[in-house]
Amino acid sequence: MPEGTEDTLKRGFESRREHFLLRREATGARPIEEIYSELDLSLLMPRKVPAYGARAAKTTLSPISIDRRDPEPRDVEIQILYCGICHSDVHKVRNDWGNTHFPLVPGHEMVGRVASHGSQVTSFHEGDLVGVGCIVDSCRACPECRAGREMFCHEGVTFSFDSFDKGRKTWTAGGFSTSVVVDDRYVLRIPSGLDPAQAAPLMCAGITTYSPLRQFGCKPGNEVAVVGLGGLGHLAVKLAASMGANVTVLSTSRAKEGDARRLGAKGFVATKEPGALDAEAERFDLIVDTVSGPHDLDRQANLLRSFGTMVLVGLPPAGAPVDVSGLIHGNKRVAGSNIGGIPETQEMLDYCGKNGVMADVEVIRADQINAAFQRMEQGDVHYRFVIDASTFRA
Ligand code: NAP
Ligand code: ZN
Ligand code: ZN
Repeated sequence: MPEGTEDTLKRGFESRREHFLLRREATGARPIEEIYSELDLSLLMPRKVPAYGARAAKTTLSPISIDRRDPEPRDVEIQILYCGICHSDVHKVRNDWGNTHFPLVPGHEMVGRVASHGSQVTSFHEGDLVGVGCIVDSCRACPECRAGREMFCHEGVTFSFDSFDKGRKTWTAGGFSTSVVVDDRYVLRIPSGLDPAQAAPLMCAGITTYSPLRQFGCKPGNEVAVVGLGGLGHLAVKLAASMGANVTVLSTSRAKEGDARRLGAKGFVATKEPGALDAEAERFDLIVDTVSGPHDLDRQANLLRSFGTMVLVGLPPAGAPVDVSGLIHGNKRVAGSNIGGIPETQEMLDYCGKNGVMADVEVIRADQINAAFQRMEQGDVHYRFVIDASTFRA
């Protein structure tokens, strides 16, 4: 038995036993068969839920059954309605970053309804529309957690999938499933007016692009370039345009030009056309790079004005060199940005609710996930695949 499994089983058993005893207390000394017939049998069974995952490296995803813990006093149990597919899910399944633990259930852009909650949860109620993103636990006490930057927790953040949950000594399983159980500190409220399927991608792609626009300044009249028009890129365009910036999309071909303009871009550059980037030299205050594959960062840095910033959020499998002298001439900055903490994620959701910012989605069934992964690897995404969670079957 893997280390920690016994503890997890014991905890699950204890809460099921408690449920049984409470029912017996409430019903008095009646025949055991009669009491048993009134029990919520789902609480007496291990919580197995249908999911989709990869059993080993270099395999496709297929139906898999996973355990969800019984809700603890501070937990919210969520029936997932939709889960977006982020390119980080693709990188993880392909083991692009060399750190994946299999079997793996990806998914970190969840939107669903509260199905139940523990006795100490007061801010969420059954039926509430909520979201869960990348972060499901952290120490809550270190300076980063106290500042609402839980992704940098000094004790190590617990991500919603493929992350070791130190308290429970298990690996987390993500949102490619029908339900999830999460501590209420890490559950976000989805504002009314946002469509649940179109809000799901906000839980990662939304916060990952909103945060650098806020950190590095995106003001009316700023020239902002967005590199790569995929899930992150299209939300970066919508968000930057909603903040009043003049947005230009840098895409590998002309195929997405019409879409870029519809999403709010004023300019469009097909980066593979000869001389295309030279024409844009020293033009941008801010470049948001969302590219998932290898590309030339030096050529992009040339597009910055003096004191401009190129912020990298895309995480290709391998890094790329940047010429230092090119940065020094013009005091240009290269920065990185990692998702965003829980308070900023709620701020982003509220901003999107007020400004009507949502993802353009292609809703798919679970059995279309492998095809969606392939299309994302070919850049063929318009602009986020979102899985209808009712199509997961054991
Ligand atoms: P996506 O939907 O697949 O879009 C990526 C886009 O990048 C493609 O559609 C394509 O756009 C462009 N692209 C891909 N390969 C390219 C190459 N070799 N050269 C130039 N352009 C290329 O991916 P996503 O979900 O937006 O994620 C993008 C990246 O961000 C991934 O690496 C992901 O892991 C990372 N990420 C980081 C964070 C963070 O916290 N920093 C959070 C989430 C995701 P065009 O068709 O327009 O060329
Ligand atoms: Zn993501
Ligand atoms: Zn912490």
